[in-house]
Amino acid sequence: SSVSQGPRICIVGSGPAGFYTAQHILKHDAQAQVDIYEKLPVPFGLVRFGVAPDHPEVKNVINTFTQTAWSKRCTFLGNVTVGRDVTVEELQGAYHAVVLSYGAEEKRELGIPGEELPGVYSARDFVGWYNGLPVNRHLNPDLSSDTAVILGQGNVALDIARILLSPIELLKKTDITQSAVDTLSRSHIRRVWMVGRRSPLQVAFTIKELREMIHLPGTRPNLDPSDYQGLEKITHSLPRPRKRLTELLVKSALEKPGEKVATQWGQAEKEWGLRFLRSPLAVLPCDNSRRAAGIRLSVTQLKGTGEDAVAVPTGQVEDISCGLILSSIGYRSVPISSAVPFLPKQGVIPNSMGRVQGTQGMYCSGWVKRGPTGVITTTMSDSFETAQAILEDVRSGALNPLEPKTGAVAIQDLLLLRGIKPVSFSDWEKIDKVEIARGLKVGKPREKILDTEEMLQLVLR
Ligand code: FAD
Repeated sequence: SSVSQGPRICIVGSGPAGFYTAQHILKHDAQAQVDIYEKLPVPFGLVRFGVAPDHPEVKNVINTFTQTAWSKRCTFLGNVTVGRDVTVEELQGAYHAVVLSYGAEEKRELGIPGEELPGVYSARDFVGWYNGLPVNRHLNPDLSSDTAVILGQGNVALDIARILLSPIELLKKTDITQSAVDTLSRSHIRRVWMVGRRSPLQVAFTIKELREMIHLPGTRPNLDPSDYQGLEKITHSLPRPRKRLTELLVKSALEKPGEKVATQWGQAEKEWGLRFLRSPLAVLPCDNSRRAAGIRLSVTQLKGTGEDAVAVPTGQVEDISCGLILSSIGYRSVPISSAVPFLPKQGVIPNSMGRVQGTQGMYCSGWVKRGPTGVITTTMSDSFETAQAILEDVRSGALNPLEPKTGAVAIQDLLLLRGIKPVSFSDWEKIDKVEIARGLKVGKPREKILDTEEMLQLVLR
């Protein structure tokens, strides 16, 4: 990390956006040095704390990220919150380029009365809880009622429904936290409704996740045929992914299943279903007002068609009794510093191909660049685009690698003064080993450490 003629670049956030941006820069500029700052002591962002525990194959990207981190020209500095422990301006002083890849960490609020009642949780907190996100480790959700309502019909909603309904024997073999296993084994939830403002033609989940739900052991779909009648006549006109998804919904709702599936569904003790054209109006409290006992929904109708159709209220309402309400209406990025422009309405940093508007040497990638939608491969493409912009700016001279910059050396001095000890990638590998060893004892791929203090004690001796 000493004398180099290449650009010194720092990346804020070690999720897919951070790692893919680093990978592309390191691959195409043999002189570049990349430092990745991460607020948690552990890397990988939502790959560790978002992706469902029963989807281990999705987490294989970690192997690629680890290869990147092992590069001699890449340094991981965990346990450093940019905006608190070190400012964006300080990073700008120490690096030729600063890339903001800090994701979308906040929940979106429903903005309805009763939202604060016990029994109501955001998807972000609930997912964080079962995936071992340190801030959510004490969530301890109340699963004592028989019905849950999830507001939202995307893949995150399906992840949550699957975790609530999956046989505990299956979950026990994943890297879900032990406290989530304990709570879920005592769960009384038998029925999960996923509620959407629009129609079956606008659901946001994808076919693979739907298929998995349809075949979930011990669980049957409860799909109201009237929601799907007539749709088979228009499927041919839909774009391909939407067409296949709608065909599967229609088939599951309207066709008689084969004998084997019919028997499975007949014996199932749990069920899930989709409710359409409903938007949340209020959480209904129980008699003593101390917790949620139901949700009031406004019945909507669609104006327009296809992906652009808008739901407008009809004036009718419907109540559903439920003791668990999960709002899965999306994530939200927050501004990190007044030195960085931010569009509060869209919740993104204004940019063009990843170049932050009105600034020099500042870039962004991932969810904070394009908003909190899309899978890891979408994030990969947009991160490569940002990396490409940086490489071009080095080539064109817009970034000047010959200008002296101290990089991590100066920042580490600052951190030391402030009492912050960064966690290195080999420190993370120690944490990783301990987690894997603890998992092995109980037949899981890993048992995540939930307490950042415990992580730090393992490595900062
Ligand atoms: P993140 O992954 O959120 O990474 C941001 C990182 O920045 C985090 O590590 C965070 O700790 C760090 N950070 C935040 N603030 C600071 C700061 N101030 N200083 C330093 N560091 C900071 N995609 C799939 O392809 N398959 C799936 O199965 C899948 N499941 C998902 C399940 C859930 C519940 C969610 C929410 C998303 C899922 N996704 C899935 C989408 C995928 O996770 C995202 O596309 C991707 O993680 C976005 O990458 P990112 O790097 O922009 O953000």
